[in-house]
Amino acid sequence: MASVVIVGGGAIGLASAFFLQRGGDFSITVIDQGAIGDGCSYGNAGFLSPSHVVPLAAPGVVSKGLRWLLDPESPFYIRPRWDPELFRWLWRFRQAATSTHVVRSAPVLQALLERSRELTVQLQEVVGDFELRREGLLMPFQSKEGRQECEALAREAVRLGIAHAWIAAEQLAELAGTEVRAQGGLFFPGDAHLRPDRFTAALHRYLEQQGVRFLPNTPVRGLVRRGFQVAGVQVAEGTLEADLVVVAAGAWSAELVRAVGYRLPLQPAKGYSLTFTPPEGMPRRPLLLTETKVAVTPFREAFRLAGTLELAGLELSLNWRRVQAIYRAAGRYLPTLRLPAMEQAEIWAGLRPCTPDGLPVVDRVPGTDNLWLATGHAMLGISLAAVTGELVAALISGAAPPIAPTPLRADRW
Ligand SMILES: Cc1cc2nc3c(=O)[nH]c(=O)nc-3n(C[C@H](O)[C@H](O)[C@H](O)COP(=O)(O)OP(=O)(O)OC[C@H]3O[C@@H](n4cnc5c(N)ncnc54)[C@H](O)[C@@H]3O)c2cc1C
Repeated sequence: MASVVIVGGGAIGLASAFFLQRGGDFSITVIDQGAIGDGCSYGNAGFLSPSHVVPLAAPGVVSKGLRWLLDPESPFYIRPRWDPELFRWLWRFRQAATSTHVVRSAPVLQALLERSRELTVQLQEVVGDFELRREGLLMPFQSKEGRQECEALAREAVRLGIAHAWIAAEQLAELAGTEVRAQGGLFFPGDAHLRPDRFTAALHRYLEQQGVRFLPNTPVRGLVRRGFQVAGVQVAEGTLEADLVVVAAGAWSAELVRAVGYRLPLQPAKGYSLTFTPPEGMPRRPLLLTETKVAVTPFREAFRLAGTLELAGLELSLNWRRVQAIYRAAGRYLPTLRLPAMEQAEIWAGLRPCTPDGLPVVDRVPGTDNLWLATGHAMLGISLAAVTGELVAALISGAAPPIAPTPLRADRW
């Protein structure tokens, strides 16, 4: 039985452990520097969005990003600093932000997202309830620019056959279950959502019952290399030997694989969420507020607002102006929402692992035989966790992958 060490106990590491364990031929250890499920997979919006087929690198994003840089409350920010890795990443991002890239990548993301939604439904049946609900995603817009953005998404949806509907202003309240101040909206009925902390907790609990070993609060300090092989990982107590190592360390992954000479272009993109007890006037299904990019998610026992994308490095400090902007956005679109004061919210920051072309990397690390990488899921890590796990298990076991993994290769840069 081959031993596998998975570095990272987030959605991606846990889903990889699930599918490897199901295959049956591995003894698995999941290591995390903190608590299991406490990284970016904890406080995100929980959208499971087969509608999100347009990668972050898309036409118009660069010019919009530049305009947003001047606005301290905008959903996008780059912390000015001297960082050659960031410059290289931004250059590659600019190269990728073309319509050709979108035309090529959207069907890849669509296939992955649809497979993942199907697998996530099956996962819940096996590991227990994580509040998965298929109630669609509504994108209300308040401006001409917002409508144009939705039109671009709808064009892509038509091209790829993704179910969607335009919602007139006077029908928004009925669909959302609360008043919505907007000119109209675009609705994706095939989208779903789940409670992300319950998703990771259910996987963790189930895997522990199945004999997967967990080592929380155990930072991996490096990889132990032996020729083209990785012999294990370095932790405070010494070397933890393994036949195979999977790096699923989210925004921290690039640092780990650099030790074996592979430069993964990955930037952490910070986002925030505010979680409240369910307020009066809460919508009954998830919304994505088009202009502000704020995600609004009603859970069974909580209500969450999430947003912003800050390229500020590997740090989790809170930018209060942007946190307040998320809070205020909800009131701008939802006039009857009675949000408690911001002080009563659980305020959280997380780091999305972002590649410059907006596609994840699921592959063996170039130049090694037994080191695997599963990261770069940006704003889709919950949506894509299940299919990534399935792909990791298939690639490692030499089974036919569910979806051709070529666009996710590590040597594409
Ligand atoms: C505000 C916000 C909203 C979002 N909304 C959505 C959404 O609605 N839908 C969606 O699909 N995605 C969403 N995302 C993105 C999603 O949260 C991420 O893509 C996903 O959580 C990434 O999962 P991961 O397992 O790769 O990373 P993580 O969950 O960060 O897990 C990586 C783990 O690796 C551990 N680790 C790192 N380095 C080491 C080391 N050296 N040793 C040991 N352990 C290590 C970390 O402690 C961490 O627990 C959102 C993100 C943010 C910030």
